[in-house]
Amino acid sequence: MRLVFLGPPGAGKGTQAKIICEKWSIPQISTGDMLRAAKKEGKLDPQLVEAMGKGAHVPDEVVIRLIDERTKGADCAKGFLLDGFPRTVPQASALDTMLSGRKQPLTKALALEIADELSIERAVLRRTDRRTGQAYHLKYNPPPPDADLEHRADDQEDVVRNRICVYRAMTAEVLPYYEKSERLRRVDGVGDVAEVTKRVLSALKTPEGA
Ligand code: ADP
Ligand code: AMP
Repeated sequence: MRLVFLGPPGAGKGTQAKIICEKWSIPQISTGDMLRAAKKEGKLDPQLVEAMGKGAHVPDEVVIRLIDERTKGADCAKGFLLDGFPRTVPQASALDTMLSGRKQPLTKALALEIADELSIERAVLRRTDRRTGQAYHLKYNPPPPDADLEHRADDQEDVVRNRICVYRAMTAEVLPYYEKSERLRRVDGVGDVAEVTKRVLSALKTPEGA
């Protein structure tokens, strides 16, 4: 399985990706996590740090290079799940080119769909444990009292609203790109985590339109 998960901020991409990757023993690859890790190590260009802080995209060539390198890893031989990439049509097209060159085409693209107000509530109340990387939600999945919580700078409400605008303007076009080649599966992301997981698993098993 070579998969991509698409969806607005807070749609549940990371949450569902973690469950699917543990179940199928494939790596979860998040460009957002890779960029944040580079930032933490002080290795990210200040212009990219600024773009992320505003909720803007980093340039396509930066993330394409990250994904090209990362998916060559030995742990990706049996498959992988890309979470938060591609976010533009040029990224989707570059991914197809790199994977077809390796004779390992993408299996499916899954879009998690939620309304904007839920997207804001999910992202603004998201907290991550610095020590374990585990994501929590202050309302839906409260952290244990001893968690060392981090609030992402781009999960402030005004930035989340901008990220939703960027999603609608740029990433929404990626859905028809995959629809045309019959690889897209749309999944309702509203409901508790286990309920959404059931839908994700069923969407990944069924042909389009079934
Ligand atoms: P994304 O990766 O799409 O930005 P996450 O998976 O990090 O989204 O989820 C955003 C927040 O919403 C997290 O705090 C997570 O714990 C919470 N969350 C994810 N899925 C659900 C769900 N189905 N119901 C309630 N809260 C959820
Ligand atoms: P995420 O963790 O997926 O929400 O991504 C956090 C931020 O990282 C985004 O708001 C962008 O600034 C940047 N980013 C992550 N993935 C991409 C991508 N595929 N293309 C452009 N920017 C990205």
